[in-house]
Amino acid sequence: METIEGVRTGGVSHWHQQAGLPAVGAPLPGDRTADVCIVGGGLTGLWTAYYLSEADPTLDIVVLEAEFVGYGASGRNGGWLSAELPGSRATYARGPGGTAAVDRLVAELYDTVDRVIDVCQTHGIDSDVVKSGVMYVATSAAQLARLESGSPGPGSRHQILSVEESLARIRVNDTRGAVLDPQCARVQPAKLVRGLAEVVRSRGVKIYEQTRVKRVESGRAVCESGTVAAPFVLQCLEGYTSALRGNRRTWLPMNSAMVVTEPLSQDVWAELGWAGNELLGDLANAYYYAQHTADGRIALGGRGRPYRYGSATDVDGVTQAWTIRSLRETLERAFPQLNGVPLEHAWCGVLAVPRDWCASVSLDPRTGIGFAGGYVGSGLTATNLAGRTLRDLVLGTHTDLTTLAWTNRPVRRWEPEPLRWLGVNGMYALYRAADRREVAGLDRPSRLARVADSLSGR
Ligand SMILES: Cc1cc2nc3c(=O)[nH]c(=O)nc-3n(C[C@H](O)[C@H](O)[C@H](O)COP(=O)(O)OP(=O)(O)OC[C@H]3O[C@@H](n4cnc5c(N)ncnc54)[C@H](O)[C@@H]3O)c2cc1C
Repeated sequence: METIEGVRTGGVSHWHQQAGLPAVGAPLPGDRTADVCIVGGGLTGLWTAYYLSEADPTLDIVVLEAEFVGYGASGRNGGWLSAELPGSRATYARGPGGTAAVDRLVAELYDTVDRVIDVCQTHGIDSDVVKSGVMYVATSAAQLARLESGSPGPGSRHQILSVEESLARIRVNDTRGAVLDPQCARVQPAKLVRGLAEVVRSRGVKIYEQTRVKRVESGRAVCESGTVAAPFVLQCLEGYTSALRGNRRTWLPMNSAMVVTEPLSQDVWAELGWAGNELLGDLANAYYYAQHTADGRIALGGRGRPYRYGSATDVDGVTQAWTIRSLRETLERAFPQLNGVPLEHAWCGVLAVPRDWCASVSLDPRTGIGFAGGYVGSGLTATNLAGRTLRDLVLGTHTDLTTLAWTNRPVRRWEPEPLRWLGVNGMYALYRAADRREVAGLDRPSRLARVADSLSGR
């Protein structure tokens, strides 16, 4: 691990460090066959293995993971198990199922939050889960206008909170109001993904770690140490998809970064409130997301440097000084009491952004190649639903899930460089400029954000 700005960075994530980095399992020893080959040992791959092995315990299922389970976003995220729709309703509604298929997708995501909690309880996966809801706080007039315009939260069950009600929950500086969605739980991400892997292994699913897939073809996944031949090969690589041969422009790997404080004293918690453990975010264009951890820290994340040229990804979560400074400023703006508080760890990871900013779950019955992802930062819950959708597609059963708005939808590819780099970094420069104007006192959402949205096709 490195130290930047006095903060440790790398080591994949605080969550993995806290759980203790795992002893990494053996790689694929040579060629073999399987009924289903899953590429990627994150939540998408593992939920798919979980539901397939449940539906048909006789299936021979193999998971190929380049590093170790949970190495990617699944072991690095903010731990918001939220019902948020990954993408825009309007875009999904352009598909053949129209708005009805989007409404069903939204409803399924709501139920999925409880489903994940149930799985944790059933299998004794101790991942610090608490269903505490998510609170989005408005800290400027423009953010309040955004909140009141009715598009802040993911679903219809959210409640608007007055300033007093918001502060009674969490004393965020400059609070002007908030919205609370009760359908969200806090989790410790590494514990969740590693616990799920144990369950899947106990059902006989073979997980090969240190096994990087070089290419996927109809009927096989090819690795350095061997080839797995299988009628179904499922790509579950999210932000790493672009490194797989032939996928350079499929999805864009977007960066997200986090910092975590040392455990805070009881006196500090008494000042901050936050006794309900709600997940916390704001309504800025370049928003932050935070959690009160089970061991009394604040973990807070935001975009950081949004995108690396040529779809490059980080090494073991190492992030930059600029990102650490910017997240520290965000933390201290929200909670001035924390000015100068030691940050214990900083890390980053990648999530996948499709060209139309909406997720997909697909299987081509002619080739047997399937994939799921493109969750644009809202994948913790969505991976479970995607796993169940892939299960139904593989088993060839027509269910409510196989006609959801995200199933088998075509998405065009990203532009070649330097257009990708210019587009995404330009978009975030505009978001940050819009946020500066809003914080400076603009009484309505800045138009720059709308320009940014149209620039990026969001
Ligand atoms: C910092 C951060 C914060 C986030 N916060 C939240 C949040 O609070 N709530 C939320 O809903 N979502 C959040 N997300 C998004 C969420 O974490 C992801 O959507 C979700 O974890 C995606 O899971 P996945 O299994 O599809 O991908 P990943 O977890 O990225 O898994 C992909 C796996 O594939 C492996 N791999 C890569 N290349 C190869 C290869 N060639 N061969 C074999 N294996 C390979 C990787 O090592 C990795 O383990 C966040 C993401 C990040 C990065």
